[in-house]
Amino acid sequence: MAEVVPGVRKLSNGVSNWYVVGEGGKLTLVDAGKPSDWKALLRELEVMGLPLDSVDCVLLTHAHSDHTGFAERARTEAGATVRVHPADAEAARSGKSGKAESGVARYLVHPEAYRTLFGLMAGGGLRIVPVAQVSTFAEGEAIDVPGHPRAVHVPGHTPGSCALWFEATSVLCTGDALVTRNPMTGRRGPQIMPSGLNVSSQDALDSLTALEETRATLVLPGHGEPWRQGAEAAVRAARAAGMS
Ligand SMILES: [Zn+2]
Ligand SMILES: [Zn+2]
Repeated sequence: MAEVVPGVRKLSNGVSNWYVVGEGGKLTLVDAGKPSDWKALLRELEVMGLPLDSVDCVLLTHAHSDHTGFAERARTEAGATVRVHPADAEAARSGKSGKAESGVARYLVHPEAYRTLFGLMAGGGLRIVPVAQVSTFAEGEAIDVPGHPRAVHVPGHTPGSCALWFEATSVLCTGDALVTRNPMTGRRGPQIMPSGLNVSSQDALDSLTALEETRATLVLPGHGEPWRQGAEAAVRAARAAGMS
């Protein structure tokens, strides 16, 4: 099933991942996939035997369209609050995210780039559905939502990129600050995102230290499979992989 550890479920649309964290019958979603993933949320709630309004909150690791997905719909139809780091809040509201440091044309030699682009296009995942009301969370703050994660600010992929650190279960949702599958080249293993999708790859590499310091045992990335060998080993591998 979708459960990766008790209380944490991984959902994937084949390109990006999002997570459902439960506590006392209430749910925190970490990211919201692409807009068409709404159907997967409804299916998952049915499996869990929970009503739509059990979705308390959508925490966005960053404001990119393959992660903001159905967040606005969760807000309007489930009554969930949508929260993101202040530095990505305007992008979530306006639907306009900042420019990456380089283009993506050079990745088009890789079949994986087409797989990603067409995979997102099919579900409306290539542009942000603006979130009309976005609240923020502060760096280092234990957020008062189910699971009580702490926001770890890890800028580089976007200015407001955050990992969400569920200390009690030692689970670290890294968003796109550290992934285990490169959505442009297809390379597997821990790594930062490709430069064509980062605002600053150097900042992304520097931010790995903050992930490492959590010493989390389970790393749940925005792209790729869960990494069960701990945050420190993941960061070592990501540093060795470098930029792409
Ligand atoms: Zn992203
Ligand atoms: Zn992504």
